[in-house]
Amino acid sequence: MLLDELLKEKLITKEEHSKYLAELQSSNKSEEKIILENELVTEDKLSEIKGKLLNVPVFENAGFAQISNDVLALIPEESAKYYKIAPLRLVEDTFEVGMVNPEDIKAKEVILFLARQSNFKTKIYLISENDFQEVLRKYRDIAEVVGEALSELREDEKSEMIVLDDDESTDVSAILEDQAPVIKMVSAILRHGIEEKASDVHIEPVENEVRVRVRVDGILYDTLKIPLGIHGAIVARIKILSRLRIDEARMPQDGRFSTKIGGKQIDFRVSTFPTKLGEKIAIRILDPSEGLKTYKEIGLSENNLEILRKQIRKPYGMILSTGPTGSGKTTTLYAILQEINKPGVNIITLEDPIEYFVPGINQSQIRPEIGYTFTKGLRTVVRQDPDIIMVGEIRDEESANLATHAALTGHIVLSTVHTNNAIGTLARLIDLKIRPFLIPTSLNISIGQRLARRLCPFCVEKVKPLPKIEKLITSELSTIKKNVRDKLKLPSKIYTYKSKGCPKCNNKGEKGRIGIFEILRMTKDLEKIIIENPTEAAFLTEAINQGMITMRQDAIIKALEGRVSIEEVLRVTEEQA
Ligand SMILES: [Zn+2]
Repeated sequence: MLLDELLKEKLITKEEHSKYLAELQSSNKSEEKIILENELVTEDKLSEIKGKLLNVPVFENAGFAQISNDVLALIPEESAKYYKIAPLRLVEDTFEVGMVNPEDIKAKEVILFLARQSNFKTKIYLISENDFQEVLRKYRDIAEVVGEALSELREDEKSEMIVLDDDESTDVSAILEDQAPVIKMVSAILRHGIEEKASDVHIEPVENEVRVRVRVDGILYDTLKIPLGIHGAIVARIKILSRLRIDEARMPQDGRFSTKIGGKQIDFRVSTFPTKLGEKIAIRILDPSEGLKTYKEIGLSENNLEILRKQIRKPYGMILSTGPTGSGKTTTLYAILQEINKPGVNIITLEDPIEYFVPGINQSQIRPEIGYTFTKGLRTVVRQDPDIIMVGEIRDEESANLATHAALTGHIVLSTVHTNNAIGTLARLIDLKIRPFLIPTSLNISIGQRLARRLCPFCVEKVKPLPKIEKLITSELSTIKKNVRDKLKLPSKIYTYKSKGCPKCNNKGEKGRIGIFEILRMTKDLEKIIIENPTEAAFLTEAINQGMITMRQDAIIKALEGRVSIEEVLRVTEEQA
């Protein structure tokens, strides 16, 4: 038992041990998953403990970058995937292999069999699940797959026919004939996007070639260049997948398709856009299994979690999440939904698009093109006898009105509003013609949110901040009420952090993103202000009074904990300074 071992090494307390043991028995999660999810120890530490327990050495990470194609070829990709084994390197006549589960006897037999075929001895190492995934990715280096497909195309005598002329309608059957390499190429591009956990893939004609870029953690990266000559064939393939008109290149089109990649059902939303150089394609990737995150994963602090948990116990009222596009609003609502999703509760959602699937919830896709809008959905959904309604966005007077009334008639309503911060929600509702005296009874909490780039935990370093930064930090935190501040356990000496880059973060120094939050809750005092003196200044005074930690303060606390850089704090909370 790993949890026992953690207790023995005093990495967790007795209470934690029994708590997670109970979780292990009641959920179908593995022990490792529970340990990593709750961040009891780092992945490296976990490997170390597991290795000791199983008496298997742990493979040092630095070696992953150097796995050669020859070594990869010693274990076929399918076997590697199935048995969770990874070829690592050859040291003279010894074949070193990584195993995620070194106690798996079948997997060991496979390794022995493969090694014997090439007359190698074997040495087994323990590797983590993440490292295993990294090796798997090496099997399908995107450039290689696309390169192969390209050379297949060149060998193909008919390849000339694949070039689509932008301005003339083209004979579709001619384009589709013998398209295997193009199909392969498109699927390699999509697969790469999913593996990189990209939110979007862009395929765009530039001067003399086609550029493929992916957006990961909010930033666009170049991944690939493809000859301009096959741009038309790629566009055609994607259009066919998403049932768009192939012969229409002068108008933007929107479509979608769904396919199974790597055992997962993934949805793609496709949008084409005519540019001077030809059609640009943007594909939004919706991986329903990626999106469901716990409060801890989205970065909600203990303090905010306590407030949130208390508030969402109320039997009715609006829970509004606010922030600009791409600030993680929906992910937060899903985290809340998962918590209040219990047997005996009827939850209905109206979404566009349905970003993640949640078992046990009635999720409905809005289709404005046939007149099924948020507003129309909200009007009918109440007749479905829901306890909880989630509606993608409150964007106009009518949807604001309907959401407010659903809340007033005893429903919990989750939604997003487009404003700058938690306080801004109040002004926005008034703007949308909600009468102020209805707000206190219908609004429960307003959550303001941003996403910040998280420092890579593997190469993070402590830095002594400049006096000016230290001063800024102290003064920003000084407005937090004393009783709240005492609970935060802030470090007595101020340090900030930076990451210089390592193989684990592709030398970016950053790994994923973390939410920055503020939670404003309805109180008697706030009620009074909304009705008597609804000004921003009065809202702000009350927010500080009720102990709200602003987004900027929350971000600074995360900087002091080494989770984000101070530069990132300033960047994401700039407009509030
Ligand atoms: Zn790193």
